[in-house]
Amino acid sequence: MAVRIVINGSRGRMGQAVAAAAQELGLVVAAAVDVGDDLGAALDRGDVVVDFSSHHATKALLELAIARRKPVVVGTTGHSAAAKAELLPLAARVPCVWAGNFSVGVNLLFALTRRAAAVLGADYDAEVVEMHHRFKKDAPSGTAARLLEIILEERKLTAAALRHGRQGITGERTPTEVGIHALRGGDVVGDHTVMFAALGERLELTHKASDRGIFARGALRAAQWVATQPAGVYDMQDVLGLR
Ligand code: NAD
Repeated sequence: MAVRIVINGSRGRMGQAVAAAAQELGLVVAAAVDVGDDLGAALDRGDVVVDFSSHHATKALLELAIARRKPVVVGTTGHSAAAKAELLPLAARVPCVWAGNFSVGVNLLFALTRRAAAVLGADYDAEVVEMHHRFKKDAPSGTAARLLEIILEERKLTAAALRHGRQGITGERTPTEVGIHALRGGDVVGDHTVMFAALGERLELTHKASDRGIFARGALRAAQWVATQPAGVYDMQDVLGLR
């Protein structure tokens, strides 16, 4: 039977893109809710909730989903590491796809970044640059945060290695730091570049999103997939079979 979608954050840019993609794909939107609407009642009408709202809303969303045993797709970003660590055990009590980026191209970029970090090793300075539209409220982007996590994992470093922008007398770059730079402006949907620079060569892996429909279609693919999964936290690598 077709999965009935509940959209949380429905008046936002992504909420509207999800509604448009659902129509394109012939999926039923059972309810569309935003600030002030009754999400609990909306969940009763649908099978899976797709959330692109605010990181402040995730805990309440997960609690409602647990109480109603509804699968969840979390697309919202901006959670601090501590907040995410607190939320993941809640998310694991329902089938949940949690992804900072639902595009297929970006998920391949994650896999390529892991491979590049492993092959190139610590002599190649790693820096991540992202650019988004002027309205974006959090930085760095969830996608940049995931790219950084992958580099840190491959290099066995902790978040203490991250260098958010540089200013003033910084001294020479240390071999273990990983730089992250967030640009904001105009209507850029989402650009991410991972750079590995050594003495004599530089590798750049770049993804550019030009239409937020890619995230919406990916989130709906995740919604259809997660509807038949057991409780647990998954990401797009699971949905796409990239693991
Ligand atoms: P937006 O500001 O255009 O929309 C957010 C919407 O959520 C607004 O309509 C707002 O009123 C609503 N909202 C806020 N608090 C809420 C609450 N408690 N309950 C219900 N609705 C609430 O933002 P956007 O550009 O649509 O992005 C939304 C989120 O999705 C951001 O965190 C963004 O970074 C993230 N995002 C993720 C992906 C991905 O692929 N994972 C892609 C794009 C954007």
